[in-house]
Amino acid sequence: MSDIWEYAPAPESREIANLRPNYRMFLDGEFVEGAGEPLKTVNPATEEVLAEVSTAAPSDVDRAVKAARRSYERVWGKMPGAERAKYIYRIARMIAERSRELAVLESLDNGKPIKESRDVDVPTASAHFFYHAGWADKLGYAGLGPDPRPLGVAGQVIPWNFPLMMAAWKIAPALACGNTVVLKPAETTPLTALVLAEIIQQADLPPGVVNILPGAGDIGAELVNHPGVDKIAFTGSTDVGKLIQRSLAGSGKKLTLELGGKAANIVFDDAPLDQAVEGIVNGIFFNQGHVCCAGSRMLVQESVADELLDKLHTRVSTLRLGDPLDKNTDVGAINSREQLDRINELVDAGENEGATRWTSPCPLPEKGFFFAPTVFADVSQAMRIAREEIFGPVLSVLTFRTPEEAVAKANNTPYGLSAGIWTEKGSRILWAADRMRAGVVWANTFNRFDPTAPFGGYQESGFGREGGRTGLEAYLDV
Ligand code: NDP
Repeated sequence: MSDIWEYAPAPESREIANLRPNYRMFLDGEFVEGAGEPLKTVNPATEEVLAEVSTAAPSDVDRAVKAARRSYERVWGKMPGAERAKYIYRIARMIAERSRELAVLESLDNGKPIKESRDVDVPTASAHFFYHAGWADKLGYAGLGPDPRPLGVAGQVIPWNFPLMMAAWKIAPALACGNTVVLKPAETTPLTALVLAEIIQQADLPPGVVNILPGAGDIGAELVNHPGVDKIAFTGSTDVGKLIQRSLAGSGKKLTLELGGKAANIVFDDAPLDQAVEGIVNGIFFNQGHVCCAGSRMLVQESVADELLDKLHTRVSTLRLGDPLDKNTDVGAINSREQLDRINELVDAGENEGATRWTSPCPLPEKGFFFAPTVFADVSQAMRIAREEIFGPVLSVLTFRTPEEAVAKANNTPYGLSAGIWTEKGSRILWAADRMRAGVVWANTFNRFDPTAPFGGYQESGFGREGGRTGLEAYLDV
């Protein structure tokens, strides 16, 4: 090993994040103190408190919904699309201008590696605003009628795994279609959404068009159930999604749910294995596996299973885990102690149920919430690690003999968000994709996100699509 050169640390400076000791919520165009208990947001890589954030009380939700209604009726809902587009373009450009600051802040608050926040989260967030700005004056050509109308006030609740990107996925189409917004970021990751609020203020959006209210789940529920909201968009766990669907039944509110997943990444025996290994690594270790569409079940054809597993262990051993701000880091911190506990519980269940565990020998930092990349072999379909969303850097490997068996096992899940297929044959890709019950099927690649491509699930992964022309439908009265 002595002839292997170590990477020199290449940390991005945390000064770039312009971190402030206090952040306030954004309501009716102003940053104001919320009436809720302030929360302390923590850097999951060090467990230090980053900032204190004011939170909303139910009275603030009510004020925000009323402000959103006023601005919808007086300004935004009747503004010509070409005018709305100018504001949305401005937001897109300002995100790009402040991309380095946003990337560092996201990595500090969420724990994800800087190379991911820098190369994926922030550029994709900006791209969503650019893309939807283009639609604002062309809604009549989206195939949804000659003059589709907005819905009104959108209530949006987002999770902690892609805080800025999820805010962009939600806010950009809502604004392009002429709706106003009240958004609740996740409790553990409120900071980049509040910097986005600054951008929105500087972009001169009329007050009340976008309101951003940090708070816990009860404030999410308050927003969802507020009678002044016309449309709810939720991304998060299937349990909360079911709760929301139950509480909205009969209310007439339009709803889209983007929930959990347990995606199969199928590797056929003719696949280019080295390329497949890269895709499998990206599929499950990207963002510490905190990805609803993560390729968390690898299904490999039996004849190449041993070879693939060996290659996978070798590759995963080289992943560098640690300081999210280091540009060499591949796997950052788990977002919270709660999530780390959940990963540990499911990994213990995997061992107890008889799967064979392999964990990367990488060193773990002494402080912070970290979990070493782990691969389970000899997994059977009945095990919890094959059925439940672990939402961590843990891969479950199952085998198959025939393409029919691969498809049957891939579809043997209550979810249906995404899937991957690795093979050299185009005909096999089409054959398998046709049979896969998943909203997105990637072929010889994985975890590709683009604002032009609709994203969403089947079954317990939710319903409705975000992105692309289809995604506009969720924000229009059609
Ligand atoms: P949640 O579904 O609880 O959180 C998602 C968002 O919903 C957060 O903003 C949360 O607020 C809010 N919320 C919580 N309860 C309610 C409610 N009753 N009504 C309205 N909004 C509510 O996910 P968790 O963060 O608890 O994660 C648990 C598990 O869910 C993970 O282990 C993972 O398996 C899965 N998950 C899936 C995601 C996906 O993208 N599909 C994203 C996140 C989690 P608060 O932050 O205060 O809790």
